[in-house]
Amino acid sequence: MQTQVPGVLPDAVNFMLQVERNRILEGVYPISAMPRLCDVLTSSDGFVKVKLEFGDSVGFASLKGKVSATLMTQCQRCLQPMAIKVCGHFKFALVNSDDDSELLPEEFEPYLLDGEEQSVIDIIEDELLLSIPMVTVHETACSDFMNAQDEAGGVREKMQAEKEASHPFAALQAMKNGLKDKKVN
Ligand SMILES: [Zn+2]
Repeated sequence: MQTQVPGVLPDAVNFMLQVERNRILEGVYPISAMPRLCDVLTSSDGFVKVKLEFGDSVGFASLKGKVSATLMTQCQRCLQPMAIKVCGHFKFALVNSDDDSELLPEEFEPYLLDGEEQSVIDIIEDELLLSIPMVTVHETACSDFMNAQDEAGGVREKMQAEKEASHPFAALQAMKNGLKDKKVN
């Protein structure tokens, strides 16, 4: 049985040749191979999963792709590292000139072919950069940190003081009730 570990894809391929062969490429790129992406991450460990489909789509040479990865970034609230799952899709029509791109249906983005081979890894890196949310914060994991910050800043004590001030007898009443309950028990 073949192992299912996907291989590392080449950085660049001849797109039109892949279209002629209706090739589907599935594999990974190491995150460390994408310097622009690494610049905005806290770790370059890990891999990006990629699926590329070359072929014809409504008469246009096309490249459809999917990318997904777990990226390490920084929580903008507690400044600790956090993992985010990102994924992206793209659908390019491969064109030879800007004139061709004017004829494209809206669902396509034009990709201008240039040279013998075209860089796949650049497309993937762009897609991942676009898929990172503008604001990254822990959903819940940094609430302990927030509580600690509150206490350090006295926010919690202030809130408690405000509460007591608005109900000056509430604390006293609670204490009396506590005493009463103790006697009953
Ligand atoms: Zn956080």
